[in-house]
Amino acid sequence: MRARALKDILLQLENAAAASGRPAPRLLAVSKTQDATAVAELAAAGQRAFGENYVQETAVKRAALAGEGLEWHLIGHLQSNKAEQAADLFDWVQTVDRPKLVAALARYRAPDRPPLNVLVQVNIDDEASKHGCQPGDVPALAAAIAAEPRLRLRGLMAIPTPHPDPEQRRDAFRRTGALFEALRAGHPDVDTLSMGMSDDFAIAIAEGATMVRIGTALFGARPPKA
Ligand SMILES: *Cc1c(COP(=O)(O)O)cnc(C)c1O
Repeated sequence: MRARALKDILLQLENAAAASGRPAPRLLAVSKTQDATAVAELAAAGQRAFGENYVQETAVKRAALAGEGLEWHLIGHLQSNKAEQAADLFDWVQTVDRPKLVAALARYRAPDRPPLNVLVQVNIDDEASKHGCQPGDVPALAAAIAAEPRLRLRGLMAIPTPHPDPEQRRDAFRRTGALFEALRAGHPDVDTLSMGMSDDFAIAIAEGATMVRIGTALFGARPPKA
C-alpha cells in the first residue's frame, strides 16, 4: 500500500516538474513519528532518503534499519547540545542556521566518515517564532560551512509561513529560489534547494525546488509523537 503511495507521489513530482520545464526533484520521505516498519516498507519499494525531526527517534530507527543503505536527513531544529549526536546519526542536516552549530557539527563529524551534508535553513518569511537565519545572513553562514572540511555545503532549506491557501506561499518559494541562485553563483557545487511539503510541493517545484519533503501524502496522517 505504501509502495503504491510512493509510486503515485513520484509520478506527481515528475508531472509537476514537466509542467514547469524543470528536472524532477528528489523526494525526501518525512518519516517522523512513523515506526521502523513503515520506513522499511518504503525502503523496500526503493525510497532511500528519509527525513526526521528528532535525534533520539532517529537513533532508534537507524539502528533498526542498519544495513539498508538509507540516507537520514535532520529537518527539525537542532539544539547545540545535540550536535555531537546529530553529527554521527545523520547524513544530512538541513537546519543549520547559526555559526555555533556550524562549528559544533564540524568538530564532531568523525574523520573516517564522508563529510556531513549541510543546508542553510533560511527564515524566508521573517517569522519571529521560527528558526532559520535571516536571508541577509546566508552568505556568511555559507562561507563558514564551506570552510569546514568535515562539512559539505549543499544548499538551502526553507519552511514558508503555512498560509491556509498554498498559493500564498508562492512568493516565499520564489524569494528562496532567488537566494539559492545567488548562493550558487558563489558556490558552484551547491545543488540542493529543499522546499515544498505534502500540500504545496507542486508550487515549490515550479519555483525551483530540487528536493521536496513529504510526509502525510506518503504515510497518511501522522501518529501522535510518543
Ligand atoms: C513534518 C515536516 C514535513 C512534512 O510535512 P507533511 O505536510 O506531512 O508533508 C516537511 N518538512 C518539515 C520541516 C517537517 O517538519
